[in-house]
Amino acid sequence: MHSLLPLNNPFSVVSVLLPLPLDKGYYYKANPMLELDRGDLVEVPFARRRLLGVVITLNSKGNADLERLRWIIRRFDLLRLPKNLINLIEWTAAWTLAPRGSVLRMVLSTPSAFDPPKSIMFYTLNPKENWICPTRLTNARRRVLSVLNNCTVLDQKNLLGRAVVGSRVIKSMVKSGILNYSKEIQHPIFDIPDTSREGPMLNREQQDAVEILSHRINSNRFSVTAVDGITGSGKTEVYFRAIAATLAAGKQALVLLPEITLSAEWLERFTDRFAAKPAIWHSALQARVRRDTWRAVAQGSVRVLFGARSALFLPFNKLGLIVVDEEHESYYKQDDGVAYHARDMAVVRARLEGIPIVLVSATLSLETVENVRQGRYTAIHLSSSFAAVAKPKVSLIDLRKYKLDRGNFLSQPLVEAMQSTLNKGEQLMLFLNRRGYAPLTLCYNCGNRLKCSKCTAWLVMHQMLGQLMCHHCGFFTSLPQYCNLCSTRNSFIFSGPGVERLADEVFRRFPDVKLQIASSDTIKGLHNTAELVSSVQSKKVHVVIGTQAIFKGYTFPYLTLVGVVDADLGLTGCDPRAYERTHQLLHQAVSHVSRTGHAGRVFVQTLAPENPVMQALAFDDRESFLRFEINQRKASGMPPYGKLAALVISSLNIKQVDEVTQVVAKAMPKLDGVVILGPIPAPITVRRCYHRRRFILRADRKINIQKVLRHWLALIKPQSSVRIQVDVDPYSFI
Ligand code: ADP
Ligand code: ZN
Repeated sequence: MHSLLPLNNPFSVVSVLLPLPLDKGYYYKANPMLELDRGDLVEVPFARRRLLGVVITLNSKGNADLERLRWIIRRFDLLRLPKNLINLIEWTAAWTLAPRGSVLRMVLSTPSAFDPPKSIMFYTLNPKENWICPTRLTNARRRVLSVLNNCTVLDQKNLLGRAVVGSRVIKSMVKSGILNYSKEIQHPIFDIPDTSREGPMLNREQQDAVEILSHRINSNRFSVTAVDGITGSGKTEVYFRAIAATLAAGKQALVLLPEITLSAEWLERFTDRFAAKPAIWHSALQARVRRDTWRAVAQGSVRVLFGARSALFLPFNKLGLIVVDEEHESYYKQDDGVAYHARDMAVVRARLEGIPIVLVSATLSLETVENVRQGRYTAIHLSSSFAAVAKPKVSLIDLRKYKLDRGNFLSQPLVEAMQSTLNKGEQLMLFLNRRGYAPLTLCYNCGNRLKCSKCTAWLVMHQMLGQLMCHHCGFFTSLPQYCNLCSTRNSFIFSGPGVERLADEVFRRFPDVKLQIASSDTIKGLHNTAELVSSVQSKKVHVVIGTQAIFKGYTFPYLTLVGVVDADLGLTGCDPRAYERTHQLLHQAVSHVSRTGHAGRVFVQTLAPENPVMQALAFDDRESFLRFEINQRKASGMPPYGKLAALVISSLNIKQVDEVTQVVAKAMPKLDGVVILGPIPAPITVRRCYHRRRFILRADRKINIQKVLRHWLALIKPQSSVRIQVDVDPYSFI
């Protein structure tokens, strides 16, 4: 193709980023007539493959050997990446220390979006063929004629269905000139929300909130607004109005939600309000829907999208608003691959786009609270509730006083409360954040504990599956009949409760009760949860036993009692956010009961009633808890008052992992304001057969932690069998 070019300017050189774990762009020659621009998507040869990439630099030369450069194969004309999205890729890569190509890979997660759009065939009767004598037709052909006589035009799928014929019949009828056909490219239709529909009359606080947000949306500037208020205080209605204002301004709106919250029930709310389905984006989307949605977002025909964290990297062209609902959820932090925090990167995207972002939660994260205190974010508080019920009464049950009998996990006051709730025909929930039957299985004779063969972890008994399972690698096996150490037969006993074991106890105490377990084992996917939820909502079930999986996006209107079985479960470990998370989780448990028509009760079983988390729950005093937590974090220099990063070195080979760890330790930076802990074996020392060593780096706020890490890592060149994983601002400490 370059033979057409003027000789004095035979080609230009551009740098193309590829969706591979590589940071640098690759140089290619391009026909100047392609008029490439930053963000253009191109197909290029790479090794022996053809890859999709994005042009990131124009007129680059670098020190590339021009002779050996290869040509860009073609440019995709209909789709390109907006410049702001390229900036976001570069920002995310620089922040997380991931290669730019790995971030691009998340953006180009749907390569089929670049396939030529599918066309469909439409059929009509050939008007010139009206002389056909029906009696000389086969039955199949006659059916086709009669269907088309009625409808005039039909697409292939409908024609085949209605005439009950195979595609061969149609083809032969086209061939013999009885039918005409036309091909049309099918553009999937995404509903356009009707923003003129009136919502409820807003209360004073909501009106003020909507006014502030509308002003911000119309000012075309970056801003962060944090909206907090208890469940039922009308936060969602407020951001629905902000979405309406965004659409009225001709722009697109993106709402991020924890994946599990994207339930049909939740999406129905939007549909009811705006008479249109929002586009959605999550990992379980059908390939076709995924492809259509990606394209439609890029082309602007998707106006509102509700998505899991990866939706942040969709190619919106006219983004006018981002909402992050449940902004405190640690779900937003991705631990594998590119270790990014979707809320934080959403703020970055909003800044790059110059648009407002709204962070919504009943329990704002300490990071957001601190940003509000520093004046970087604006706070809007909604203080009243539309649910119009009395606040639930929260009682702490001191398990040091009410000792549990062996193998029992429900204390006497909780059992009594359950009894009276059931007597009244009301519904109750027990909350225990542990899947399965028992977290530990051991031999009563020799104490042998059953471990995963690939991980440093106990095997968790799952009675419903009849298997022992490792929650880290998914390995499962049946319960051994003999102890492999002392050979005693049937010697294994269970220690500690999971939701299934709790169900046993409930049945023992209340034999006639109807019970439903709700954990990620029973709430699978987004679709088959409906039955579970409706059986609870229609009161077919008296007792729900749930892990945190139950809190997401469902409302159970008849719960009048919640029992928190082990409130201390999440408090231990080295996660600096352990208290905050436990508070958020238990707060959710409490707010579930407050949705009832009656004043509800909550019983919290704990060995540490004096713990500030428990005190905050008992006295509904989040402010004191936040003060305590802020002081703690300040004193220990933990986020958001200091910075953290984790370095995990892993390999299948224990010798190699230790060698590299030694090298990393020797290269450790010695800087004022930086403390490095380690190397130590990670708490899960072996995971999926990988041996893991860990460093934790803590730095003062003013330190550029990415720079420190980059310098440090530049000194190390491990062999390819050893992996060094960097996690800036880690949320997982296993
Ligand atoms: P949140 O998001 O804070 O949990 P929602 O926005 O979901 O609160 O509101 C809770 C309930 O109150 C919903 O059923 C909603 O339709 C209703 N609601 C919200 N705002 C109003 C209002 N101004 N007037 C009447 N009902 C409202
Ligand atoms: Zn395992």
